[in-house]
Amino acid sequence: MTDIPQDHPRYESLLAREKVAAGVKMGITSIQGLIAQGRGESFDYLIGERSTESALNAERAAAAALLLAKNPVISVNGNVAALAPEKVVSLADITDAKIEVNLFHRTETRVHLIIEQLKANGASEVLGKNPDASLELSHARRLVESRGIYSADVVLVPLEDGDRCEKLVEMGKTVITIDLNPLSRTSRTATISIVDNLTRALENMTELAREMKKERKEELVKLITTYENKKALSGAISEIQEHLKTLSAEIEY
Ligand code: ATP
Repeated sequence: MTDIPQDHPRYESLLAREKVAAGVKMGITSIQGLIAQGRGESFDYLIGERSTESALNAERAAAAALLLAKNPVISVNGNVAALAPEKVVSLADITDAKIEVNLFHRTETRVHLIIEQLKANGASEVLGKNPDASLELSHARRLVESRGIYSADVVLVPLEDGDRCEKLVEMGKTVITIDLNPLSRTSRTATISIVDNLTRALENMTELAREMKKERKEELVKLITTYENKKALSGAISEIQEHLKTLSAEIEY
């Protein structure tokens, strides 16, 4: 990976770019993953590269849903494995969630490499190598494990495609997504749509889950029942508008 000076004003963003590029070189991330990363970066610019209030609210509800779940599963694709494998493992540990690899551009080699990457970052078990169940989809993301995504009651699907998100919601699951684009089909379909950068969202959720573990179950249930996803999404769009207004005011004309 190219050395990026830590005092560079856009250090985090450049580092993420390097990680995804390294993921492609290692065979973990598909070449299409670079396009997804670029799209994410542009939305992060519009959001102001910070976790907004609406994102934190969604992250709070998501952490509560994972803690209350009977069979929570975190789905991992090539971009997630390249960007934040250690953060996935931390969140899975604190919420007792399973981890399952699920890929659109699936090859057995890529699944193997991602599992190894997660294990090198502390995961004890990673599902996805031996799919024995199928979602009603025509592409490879249909391939799932019966004790993982297929039977999960709560699934965290960061950087998801709209198709599978829709299918998982139809199956009655609580679907949590992390997607910087509040207008994507994924964000508009999910039960809890987190409009935030993957790395910030995973860190926030882990921290929130750590604190919430001490709370009473009823408090967590209340967090979920009072959460309104449409409000969160429209909040995310308003936050982008406000940020753009501020930026435009700074450019005196
Ligand atoms: P949809 O089918 O939901 O409309 P899509 O086809 O636009 O989605 P994909 O390419 O499947 O999207 O998924 C990539 C999504 O993930 C994009 O919306 C992109 O903005 C978002 N994204 C990319 N990188 C990140 C990141 N690091 N953190 C959060 N979101 C990201």
